[in-house]
Amino acid sequence: MKENDDKQNRIVDLRTCCKEHDVDLPVDLKELTEKQLVDFMVVFGEKSFRGRQIYKWINKGACTFEEMTDISAGLREKLKENACIGSLTLLRKQESSDGTVKFLFGLKDGNAIETVFMKYKYGNSICVSSQAGCRMGCTFCASGKLGLARNLTHGEIADQIFRCEEITGQKINHVVVMGTGEPFDNYDNLAEFIRRINDKNGLNIGMRNITVSTSGLVNVIDRFAADFPQVNLAVSLHAPTDEQRSRTMPVNRKYPLSELIPACRRYTEHTHRRITFEYAVIKDENDRDEDIEKLAELLRGILCHVNLIPLNEIEEKSDNRAGSRQRAGEIAEMLESRGITATVRRSLGRDIDAACGQLRLNESFQRTIIVHNDNNA
Ligand code: SAH
Ligand code: SF4
Repeated sequence: MKENDDKQNRIVDLRTCCKEHDVDLPVDLKELTEKQLVDFMVVFGEKSFRGRQIYKWINKGACTFEEMTDISAGLREKLKENACIGSLTLLRKQESSDGTVKFLFGLKDGNAIETVFMKYKYGNSICVSSQAGCRMGCTFCASGKLGLARNLTHGEIADQIFRCEEITGQKINHVVVMGTGEPFDNYDNLAEFIRRINDKNGLNIGMRNITVSTSGLVNVIDRFAADFPQVNLAVSLHAPTDEQRSRTMPVNRKYPLSELIPACRRYTEHTHRRITFEYAVIKDENDRDEDIEKLAELLRGILCHVNLIPLNEIEEKSDNRAGSRQRAGEIAEMLESRGITATVRRSLGRDIDAACGQLRLNESFQRTIIVHNDNNA
């Protein structure tokens, strides 16, 4: 009788706690911050340190309660009744001969996201998605073709690393937020994700080993510099003038170069960190000598590095044609001779798929075809 009363009271308290923290029942522990986990443990009649213990397990990638060996069997049972540990589902995996692995993961609501694992001399790196889709609409990018489905939660962003480590059996040392999505369009989840993977008791990935790439949401750059001065920032520039940039990156109409470049300067002054400018080489669009002259002028005096990426062509009909690796090399030399360090990005995993976002796009097309076929049947 007493046990039943306890259960009833706990459910009432849990509902209240869920309302306060705006989470659903059963509580997905992977979606809770450390503070929230501590609050929930109090509801379970436990001391707050239990919340920190569980947070540690979750941040080491635990996906079952059984793994939590320092938690009593009684508490594990109580947790099983009212909580769960959400996890991404592996939909597809492609392995390249150079060790690169591309994953397509399914989310609870049926959306899919891409994650890429890469091996470098200096360690293992992962490229994670921050959103399902993207609303920035860059003309050369596969990720934006279907628009934005939704933001990923910090748990879903982190789970890409947990699952990748589990599947490959390898430890990740570097994280780049350069998969599908605009991370600064999902800032709160991005920030919580960074704090989580940096946690000493969890993955313990150093701030300096994390890089975030943005299409240039100027309003967030200062905030990011203040919150995470040790995290690396990459800005997708891809054009030397407003006219060209607005043509391929609609975000430039809202945040033109006259605002973006000063924000980048402020970032380097505040953090003393080199900023990376990404520049996809698009034939006859941004790769002529005069474009590179203008680019060098634009970046003069900024503590920066230019990363040249031969464009990955995403569709045959597109106006955007890839510049060659050779042309990218020539551009790097032109920039170097003007005092700007530049490298041509190594292209990993060429034999498995092209640009980030393509696997997801292809998958969505396939699903659309299946749906159409079903409707026609
Ligand atoms: N939304 C963020 C991060 C994700 S995109 C951003 O735009 O920075 C990661 C990088 O891939 C960006 O530099 C983006 O411009 C680049 N990219 C997208 N599509 C590409 C393509 N088809 N070929 C080469 N680079 C591409
Ligand atoms: Fe979005 Fe980045 Fe792709 Fe542009 S390049 S559509 S911002 S993911």
